[in-house]
Amino acid sequence: MSRAFWESPRHAEFRTRVREILRNAILPHADRWEAQGHVDPEAWKTLAAQGLLSHGHHGEAFLESAILLEELGRTGYAGVRAGVGVHAYMATSYLDLFGTPAQREAYLEPARRGERLAALAITEADAGSDLSRLRTRARPREGGGLLVDGEKLYVANGSQASFFVTLVRTRDQKAAPRALTGVSLLLIDADSPGVRRTGQRMLGWRSADVCEVVFDNVAVPEDRVLGRRDHALMHIVQGLDFERLAAGLLAVGGVAHCLELLEEHIRRRRVKDTPLYGHQAVRHAFAELTADHDLVSQYGRHAAWLHSRGELDSRTATVLKLKATELAVRAAHVCLQFHGAQGCLDESTAARLYRDASAGTIAAGASELLRDLI
Ligand SMILES: Cc1cc2nc3c(=O)[nH]c(=O)nc-3n(C[C@H](O)[C@H](O)[C@H](O)COP(=O)(O)OP(=O)(O)OC[C@H]3O[C@@H](n4cnc5c(N)ncnc54)[C@H](O)[C@@H]3O)c2cc1C
Repeated sequence: MSRAFWESPRHAEFRTRVREILRNAILPHADRWEAQGHVDPEAWKTLAAQGLLSHGHHGEAFLESAILLEELGRTGYAGVRAGVGVHAYMATSYLDLFGTPAQREAYLEPARRGERLAALAITEADAGSDLSRLRTRARPREGGGLLVDGEKLYVANGSQASFFVTLVRTRDQKAAPRALTGVSLLLIDADSPGVRRTGQRMLGWRSADVCEVVFDNVAVPEDRVLGRRDHALMHIVQGLDFERLAAGLLAVGGVAHCLELLEEHIRRRRVKDTPLYGHQAVRHAFAELTADHDLVSQYGRHAAWLHSRGELDSRTATVLKLKATELAVRAAHVCLQFHGAQGCLDESTAARLYRDASAGTIAAGASELLRDLI
């Protein structure tokens, strides 16, 4: 696959180094993490020590992040990549953009050092694609601060997180009950009294530690409001573009891994005295996916470059997320098909890629919603 026009020899060296670090830090443990449902707590410190949890969220530094996100995807473990992506990018980007100096010191810096794990708690039972149905509320607490009540679902890094970047209602919605106004982002410490979390076993992304998180009368100090109180809608819109950019780049890497597995298999597996690769139907299916991957990955690198210049628009982020995650589903299906029954074994890599790909077209915005946005 050709490289991006902005990839310098320094970027190429960075890619090689990151691939090596991820190979050593993740691959020997990832099957065990899948089985236990979360990444080992010590792994966050290992990744941080290698500088992998503190690459830039914006500016030219983001180009290194784009490489890191692709390479995370390329490990082939979508659960791990989701956990790291949420921690190092999707949740912490709100702190980077809107955090006060004190919030950055208390939350962002320890997160970069791998000492405090971040999670993003937005979705609820009735508020997924339609966030205007958000019910979790924060009301004023006697003596100062806020009291939070509500239930969040599908929170990646949920059981291990030390804090949640949480979307709540802070104002009544009498005037416009179906609008996402009067909402705020709160930093809620996971060890606060009244926080309960329960693992949700998912079809895929098994090491992403997906949880239900209940806030039952949780006291939150006033200084934990992240960004503008009552006006978090504009933060969320910006955050979702960034989330979709990151999700798209992770998926691009995931497809690369899937195609590597598929190519190795169709060269090795023989049917009717020839490797599968010798059959035109198989070769063409592989070529089609490879061509689409070339297109989507270049689009992803273009989107990353736009973001590095502060010019990423919603449409580009949305198109990337849609196309990359849908390509991942197609690639995983073809990969499974050409593995035959071996791919249907629960423990096979092809089966894991197939399970994982299906979550990609739902998390961070379902494909149908994205088409509406486009
Ligand atoms: C593995 C995984 C990890 C996740 N991690 C997190 C996390 O860390 N934090 C967090 O807050 N959330 C997380 N989510 C939740 C995710 O953001 C939501 O699942 C997503 O926003 C969709 O919401 P929903 O599941 O409630 O689906 P719904 O909103 O109920 O939609 C159901 C389906 O309806 C269809 N649909 C939706 N909108 C339209 C439309 N406009 N037109 C036509 N059809 C439509 C789509 O097919 C969609 O899948 C995660 C989800 C998954 C699967």
